[in-house]
Amino acid sequence: MTAFAREDLQSYAKSARPEYEAALKKIVEVPSVSVDPDHKGDVRRAAELAVSMLQSAGAKTKLYETKGHPLVHGRFDRGASYPTVTVYNHLDVQPAEGPDWKTAPFDFVRDGDRYLGRGTTDDKGPAMTALFGARYAVSQGAPVNIHFLWELEEEIGSPNFETTIRANAKDMATDSVVVSDTVWVSRSRPACPAGLRGLQGLRFDLQTGETDQHSGTAGGAARNPVTELCQLIAECVDGKTGRVKIPGFYADVVPPTKKELEDLKNCGFTVKDFKRDHLFRSLRVDDALEVMKRIWMMPTFEVHGIAGGYQGPGVKTIIPPKATAIVSCRLVPQMDPKKIVKLIRDFIRKKNPDVKVSAEHELPAYEGKTEGPYADAIRGAMKFAFGKEPVFVREGGSIGAVLSMERVLKAPVFFLGLSLPEHGYHAPNENFDWPQAHGGMVAFADYFRRIGEMGKKTGRARG
Ligand SMILES: [Zn+2]
Repeated sequence: MTAFAREDLQSYAKSARPEYEAALKKIVEVPSVSVDPDHKGDVRRAAELAVSMLQSAGAKTKLYETKGHPLVHGRFDRGASYPTVTVYNHLDVQPAEGPDWKTAPFDFVRDGDRYLGRGTTDDKGPAMTALFGARYAVSQGAPVNIHFLWELEEEIGSPNFETTIRANAKDMATDSVVVSDTVWVSRSRPACPAGLRGLQGLRFDLQTGETDQHSGTAGGAARNPVTELCQLIAECVDGKTGRVKIPGFYADVVPPTKKELEDLKNCGFTVKDFKRDHLFRSLRVDDALEVMKRIWMMPTFEVHGIAGGYQGPGVKTIIPPKATAIVSCRLVPQMDPKKIVKLIRDFIRKKNPDVKVSAEHELPAYEGKTEGPYADAIRGAMKFAFGKEPVFVREGGSIGAVLSMERVLKAPVFFLGLSLPEHGYHAPNENFDWPQAHGGMVAFADYFRRIGEMGKKTGRARG
């Protein structure tokens, strides 16, 4: 397939630029804020626009209704004897308010090579990039079936995704999945996550009375639920180091391999950038490798908020009757959320039996593959497009849809992300840029060619 030489792909991407920008403008200017009921119609409009974009690129499409926002599936089918790869992106976005936006968030603004607007990098820009890459691969006859799965509820935790793909698993059958919704560590080196942390939400409630009481008349004898929760939390976790003190908490954590540590050292991460990107004044540790291990490969015990007692101006001398702490643990591969909940429950029962522990949202961690033909194809395509092999790192956050696709479609999931830290995921002034879109089109087209060349059997047997 000579049309897949680097020069061919680069000149295709270059010539497709005006069309790409027009498509991105169209989709970014639909404010598909999935969390906001006022935008329900816009989310549907984004889904319908996505369908028409897929159709005009030559795909067969279907819009699946769910209990919430719809789900879009598109397919470029070439034949049953070819392998099928499904590209996952989401087209819903985070809300965009506040005084920090320098341009209107739902106006697509092109500033040189930069594209500004909510959703440009998360995840509409990468979605359009993958589509343009697929369009080329299809037009050049790559022996592969390319499907698109575009979700519109990712930013609200994918509440209907798994049920919908389960009910339509036959239509959505695929040999592998590639997700483009992740961020490189720095522009200098492509990075692919090979694992995501999971999450276990928890709530601690303590009630010791019925109403506020005067600390002068009852203080000293009365139990104070805020103080007791603070003590309990300090027994669970060392506030300064973050070390979890619950016995057995780290029992299933697998230490990183030599290769993983090597990849971390070469991924372009610096403590300085990390502090700047997150506006931190100081950190628990200052060593880059230690920071990466902590944010990607270690579990956490985090207190998100403690509520209870007086919060107003001045000092009101009451003893509150109840207090609540909202807590969660980020989990790493091999950790079982249910086991962690039991561990925490048992520990708290011993320390303070009056505290009620409720388990909230749970999501296991995801461990990806860094070896085998698909990982090699990712490596090859990234190097082909960006000039450097990617490092396999981890993501500290969780993408629920990834676990659902692996579970329901029984297909291995890989990542070909294109976003950069400076693009401002979920932040004001979100942006994407042409070098990443251009490289991304080349990478996707090349990845599809590689999957096609792997053939159906290789892809199935050795995924
Ligand atoms: Zn995203």
